[in-house]
Amino acid sequence: MTKYNKLTYSIATQRIEKLMHLAESAIESKSEENERLARRYVELALKIGSHYKVKIPKALKMKICHKCMLPLIPGLTCTVRHSSMGFTIYKCECGEQNKIVLKGSLGTHLLEK
Ligand SMILES: [Zn+2]
Repeated sequence: MTKYNKLTYSIATQRIEKLMHLAESAIESKSEENERLARRYVELALKIGSHYKVKIPKALKMKICHKCMLPLIPGLTCTVRHSSMGFTIYKCECGEQNKIVLKGSLGTHLLEK
């Protein structure tokens, strides 16, 4: 098994963040071709994460539909419902629902975006 040095891990993390940013900007341009491109960017980010054994940040992972690999952007690719029980449901265009518990600083950070 090959071990990678810290520089490799930091480059992999930077590429994952860059690819996720590209996927979100591709979705915001609202085109059928760009939606396919956004899915590809997400697939590549997940591939980089699994190849280099880099943990994808939770804030980024929560923004991916695990069924169709589409970045979840409220109002564009998913609908958001808030529950009084302390969680939020993100429903993707494909029908997949991601239930996210919003407690602590991460939850408030996601609500701001
Ligand atoms: Zn989906």
